[in-house]
Amino acid sequence: MQTIFARRALLARGWGHDVAVSVDGSGRIADVVEAASRPSGASSVDVLLPALSNLHSHTFQRAMAGLTETRGPSQHDSFWTWREVMYRFLDVLTPDEIEAIAAFAFMEMQEAGFSAVAEFHYLHNRPGGAGYDNPAELSQRIAAAAAETGIGLTLLPVHYAQGGVDGRPLAGGQMRFRNDLASFEALAARMPQIAAGLPADAGWGVAPHSLRAVSRDDLRHLAAIAPDRPLHMHIAEQEKELEETRAVFGVRPVEWLLFEHDVSARWCLVHCTHMTPAETEGLARSGAVAGLCPVTEANLGDGIFDGRRYLSAGGFFGVGSDSNIRISASEELRQLEYSQRLRDRLRVVLADPGQSAGDVLYRGALAGGARALGRDTGAIETGRWADLVALDLDAAGYAPLGEQAALDAWVFSAGNAAVSDLWSAGRHRVRGGRHVAREAIASRYRACLASILERF
Ligand code: ZN
Repeated sequence: MQTIFARRALLARGWGHDVAVSVDGSGRIADVVEAASRPSGASSVDVLLPALSNLHSHTFQRAMAGLTETRGPSQHDSFWTWREVMYRFLDVLTPDEIEAIAAFAFMEMQEAGFSAVAEFHYLHNRPGGAGYDNPAELSQRIAAAAAETGIGLTLLPVHYAQGGVDGRPLAGGQMRFRNDLASFEALAARMPQIAAGLPADAGWGVAPHSLRAVSRDDLRHLAAIAPDRPLHMHIAEQEKELEETRAVFGVRPVEWLLFEHDVSARWCLVHCTHMTPAETEGLARSGAVAGLCPVTEANLGDGIFDGRRYLSAGGFFGVGSDSNIRISASEELRQLEYSQRLRDRLRVVLADPGQSAGDVLYRGALAGGARALGRDTGAIETGRWADLVALDLDAAGYAPLGEQAALDAWVFSAGNAAVSDLWSAGRHRVRGGRHVAREAIASRYRACLASILERF
């Protein structure tokens, strides 16, 4: 049993003062007491929040940060030219390197306020497409990185079987993703065993990559493989993808999905950048989570999610660090609100009158992130996993603002530097703003990156 004592804590009913949170040996919150006196031996923090779940990540892309910002030779540098670089990059990575990069990214996520992550894992094969002796080799590397860092993992093995909506064959870097229904099912069947090797809060789901990479028949099959577990899929990220879907299906991607499938709370649809008002409202009604990755979507020039309409319709959303070009829970929320402001030329957009943007976005992303990961988290309440983040707003100079402004101060101003401590299901892995294993994880990562760059 451990106890965390917070001067101010965001509880389910609102802000509490002098809050003692007890965490049991399994990592769940055992008790929450307000107006407590500080127990001896307790960790003492300034502001305590339920920590966010990062609902979408491809960890290997963290190692590409800084390598893709030079304009290419084509008329328009775009998502598709970025994808060519990404395919070339992933083709040199070894299993050891994939694990080292994942550990570094998971560590940064915890330092940036994410206690858990859904890893959308689509590297399965050797370069060129031959399988490893152990088909779950790279899935196990991701799990090992999660174990090393202590982050809460929901592992999502990805099905990737074709090169476009028209069913064309895979090519180039895509060969490392390739599977067919039989090999995907064999991989998914290994997930319970992999999760069992991690702490009890770990989980898994399935991830048909996109309507580009998965046939309609395969998608129907995947939706039935683990009907109570999370199902994540990229959708409507790029306009070219919309055109391809319309050419083959005759309708738009989200429109098709909502009509053909029982889209429900276990679905997390990643990006949803390009939707009509009817699609936006239909998705909101479904109870599915819109998996928004605003920093990556800005970096890749995807477009702007219709957040105002979606939130007005009561839609669930969460945020993901996706390409990991920049890992920051607060910056994802900031970018989400700023993109709406820039499009509409207004100020606070994603809140109703009298509400603060930081408050609406943070509470929304807590609920949506927990739903997307299928994780019992998102509130400081007895029985939930102790996924907690502490901010030192006092040291950062924001203390006189009071707790009502704490989320706005973090999201719109203080950023990652304000994170002092983080617990993933009770595992206290960030202390004083640094991950407890930072030195070893960062030095291994640096050596790997140097070696990768020699071969890239
Ligand atoms: Zn993605």
